[in-house]
Amino acid sequence: MSWDLLALLILIGAIWGSFLNVCIHRIPLEESVVLPHSRCPDCRQAIAWHDNIPVISWLILRGRCRSCREPISPIYPIIESVTALLTATTLYHFGLTPTGFALTALGYALITLTVIDLYHYILPDVITLPGILLGVILSLLPWFSPPIAAWEDALIGVTAGGGGLWLFGWLFQRFTGKEGMGLGDVKLTAMIGGWLGWQALPFTIFAAALIGSVAGLLWIALSGRDRSLPIPFGPYLALAAWGYLYLGPTVYGWYLGRPLPMF
Ligand SMILES: [Zn+2]
Repeated sequence: MSWDLLALLILIGAIWGSFLNVCIHRIPLEESVVLPHSRCPDCRQAIAWHDNIPVISWLILRGRCRSCREPISPIYPIIESVTALLTATTLYHFGLTPTGFALTALGYALITLTVIDLYHYILPDVITLPGILLGVILSLLPWFSPPIAAWEDALIGVTAGGGGLWLFGWLFQRFTGKEGMGLGDVKLTAMIGGWLGWQALPFTIFAAALIGSVAGLLWIALSGRDRSLPIPFGPYLALAAWGYLYLGPTVYGWYLGRPLPMF
């Protein structure tokens, strides 16, 4: 892949990141993600196209709205940068193929869900439910290869992912009296199972629990945060599913004592 092409993918990724910002901001408010055009959240002034260039505009305006000078959160350029990076790395690794594009789309959904969950403690159905369906549909089409699941693996993945996590949450609640798992987490796990197959689930759930525990303990230690407050699990599931794309076959290979083919 040439440097020109890589630069183009980063640019396209940043533009998609700008759209994900709109989704992240508006979906929890149940607003349209298409219209109206972007406005300053403080003064409601419409943002001109030349002030809406991913990352660059935020840097030029030094993180402030042009009309009211209120600060604009650095989360916007961060999401644009992460999306640009994800787009370029995914299409570099999995190729400019149907599988590469599908995984990029999955990455966009996971970024959107992660940030919404961090801010609002919800994983909206408008993303997870179509996400589950789309994963199963892709598995039925002939153009995709691993890590996109074959249809049997996708169907088992949805059932085992959703059912397994629901059962885990139910048992956790029975024994601890605390709500451990939201239904949003159940649907997200079903979605991951639908896209990547049931094979992805042991790695994803175990890695998510591990990263979540470490991050949760660090968070409590560093911020002195009350441990009875909810800690969203969606971001860790999303991160772990993404890790599976790169590390899954290697880790399973160690466990089974023989190498598995990389995706
Ligand atoms: Zn403003």
